[in-house]
Amino acid sequence: MQSVASPGRAASVQLRSLAAVLVAICGVLLTLSVIDEVNFSSMRMGVFLSEQDNAVIIEAVEPDLPAQAAGLAGGDRLLAIEGQPVPTLVELNRVLDQHGKDGEALSLEVERAGEVLRLTLTPGVSADINRLLGQIVLVAAYLGLALLAASHQHKDMRARLLAIFVGIIAIELALPGTRTFGAAAAYGTLFFWMLTTGIQFSLELHMVSLIPSRLPLLKRHPRLVILYYVAGAAASAVLLWLAVSELLLFPDPEINRLGAAEDVMMVGWATLVTLVLVRQLARAGSARERNQTLLVLVGLTPWVVYVLLTTFWSGWAVLDQAWTEPIENIVLLFFPAAVFVAIFRYGLFDVESFVRRSLVYGTVTVLLIVLLYALLTAALPWLSEQVGSDLAHWVITAGALMIGALFRPLRHGIEQAVEKGLFPERSALRKRLIEIAGALSQENSLEALTRRLASDTRSALHVDWSAVVAIDATTRAVHSAICPDSAETHRARLTGLLDTQSGAFRGLARLRKTITVSRLGKHQPEAARALAAMGAEALVPLYFQRRMIGILCLSTKRSGELYLREELELLDLFSHQIAASLENLRLFQDATYEELTGLLRREAVLRRLQIEAARSARNGSELSVAMIDLDRFKEFNDAHGHLFGDRILEQVASAMQTRVREVDALGRYGGEEFLLVLPNTGESGARRVAEALRQSVSELQLTAPDGQSGIHITISVGIATASEQTEGAHTLARELIRRADAALYAAKRAGRNRVVFHDGSIDPEDPAAV
Ligand code: GH3
Ligand code: MG
Ligand code: MG
Repeated sequence: MQSVASPGRAASVQLRSLAAVLVAICGVLLTLSVIDEVNFSSMRMGVFLSEQDNAVIIEAVEPDLPAQAAGLAGGDRLLAIEGQPVPTLVELNRVLDQHGKDGEALSLEVERAGEVLRLTLTPGVSADINRLLGQIVLVAAYLGLALLAASHQHKDMRARLLAIFVGIIAIELALPGTRTFGAAAAYGTLFFWMLTTGIQFSLELHMVSLIPSRLPLLKRHPRLVILYYVAGAAASAVLLWLAVSELLLFPDPEINRLGAAEDVMMVGWATLVTLVLVRQLARAGSARERNQTLLVLVGLTPWVVYVLLTTFWSGWAVLDQAWTEPIENIVLLFFPAAVFVAIFRYGLFDVESFVRRSLVYGTVTVLLIVLLYALLTAALPWLSEQVGSDLAHWVITAGALMIGALFRPLRHGIEQAVEKGLFPERSALRKRLIEIAGALSQENSLEALTRRLASDTRSALHVDWSAVVAIDATTRAVHSAICPDSAETHRARLTGLLDTQSGAFRGLARLRKTITVSRLGKHQPEAARALAAMGAEALVPLYFQRRMIGILCLSTKRSGELYLREELELLDLFSHQIAASLENLRLFQDATYEELTGLLRREAVLRRLQIEAARSARNGSELSVAMIDLDRFKEFNDAHGHLFGDRILEQVASAMQTRVREVDALGRYGGEEFLLVLPNTGESGARRVAEALRQSVSELQLTAPDGQSGIHITISVGIATASEQTEGAHTLARELIRRADAALYAAKRAGRNRVVFHDGSIDPEDPAAV
């Protein structure tokens, strides 16, 4: 058969190549950024220039940079560089392109207060590593968020929008400064920014209209969303037109409609998005929805405040750049951070746990490593001053190597810290499930196990009720339990719905994994409807060696929240442990109990006898055994058939079982012979018990297969008691059986339907001696 690629797989391949393209674009752009920074810093002088009346004016001189060292000051008029006049900024750049590279000293001619000064300036500073690192971290943060959202995009519109939105931002942030790439690159960057501004506006508005769920207005009129994109496109078009006309076609320093238009748009954008989110917050239904929306709002707030401040507060423009740049970066980081938390902590959209973990751990680890290396780099100059540059380099190299060596333990520590800090409920749930699995393996009856499983999972997951239906694969016997008892009415219905012949059972058996009832609805709509009507929400099939041996069914949560994918995955893992416990218990019971009568098997009852004999030999406690045989049973079989004989055996066994204590062990020794072990029981006690058994069997009301004649069945019992123990445990056990057996023979010979005690005085080798 030819295999056909599923649409899901095609989507994921497409997605992977898109992600690769995005990462590649950002990588190339960041490399260009580094090149630009290195080029720029190599020719940096540290002056702010402007052009006035056919001259280049030095507006200000940055402290501690080459211009200040050369003696330049604010207000100086730049006349010539290397003897070439520089009346305009364009001319200046042309001259600098020829000279001013590779640390070459430049001779300047400047006019200050009517005087002409000749100065020598050596351009070039060390590259601004911190700025570059900041840029890389920002791009990585947005890229990470884009990839995270993209990994989920085929399932959730919000994720798709978020992926495109933050992907564009990542590209925007990775764009190089265009200080050394010429005018075309500068215009290109600017136009790209204008184009994407409108797109981002539309995407963001669309996205917040779906957080936590679709805005009611959009629900009623889905087409309205087109308006978002029309508005975004219009905004881009206006900005582009103004940019082209003001910068290229009709440059006029007096007119700045572009700046005004940008201000209006940014403020309008920030306001609209905030309003939509506030509206969404107000109508959020559950605590989780509120948290999701609130987090996104919190993440956006710094940006909104930033937009308002930079637009309306004129003081912003004159603030020191050393202050404003980090603020801008932090403002930009808030949004991805908040959305990350909204996704991971509050299930904004449900991401595969694998992606969640690796992304969170990866991001945190990379950030920490970058920080450590940045600290090392920053420490170098200080260390050089303290211990000299050679030693400082060695120390820093050793530090760098150490950070590399510490990578694994660091990552491990981060994993644990992230688990505990970010997902406390999940690690608590995992711990609790491990505890439950441990406790289950201690149970020794299926009833107790299923009851415990139901009550423990109910409390661990905070659900209304939890039910277990366990099916014996060979006998098809079903054990079920539900917690709390008040949900008892659901139990019979569940057992019926999840019967081995039912569609739901077969559907689950095929699916082989934990699913929600709503997902089951796609395969088994009827069963899912019936389950949903009872409030069931998660189905955990229990598999052992590819056979489904039970189902754990969990109701909706008391908080009304949905199950996280994470929780379903944990339950899925846990299901294997439950199944193993169930199956182990069943194997243990099969090995211990006998099928026809439900009594202990021969080996099991003999084991008990060994144990009790050892105890008795050790501390001298009393011990008795009784050997029981049905009277003339062969005749019953011959008269009514073996099947009827089996039924009688069953009833005799059950009649006897009800007469013995919990500590006694009653087992089927042979065909219709039974062995009873009576710990802490002497002769009189044993006689009493044996007599009670004989009595209860003889009183059984049985009817022959013809349904008419009554049947009278009797047993003979031989008992023996351990006296002063001189023998070892093994000999004692054998001795007791032998004596009880001899006594049984004696009872038979004495006319059956009686109890005979063997006091040990008769030769046990000779049954006929009694
Ligand atoms: P007695 O009173 O001397 O014990 O007579 P009896 O016929 O019971 O003799 P014995 O104990 O030797 O009989 C064993 C018979 O028990 C043989 C067989 O027909 C019957 N028997 C043994 N195991 C089973 C069983 O699992 N099912 C049935 N239906 N009959 C069994
Ligand atoms: Mg018999
Ligand atoms: Mg027998």
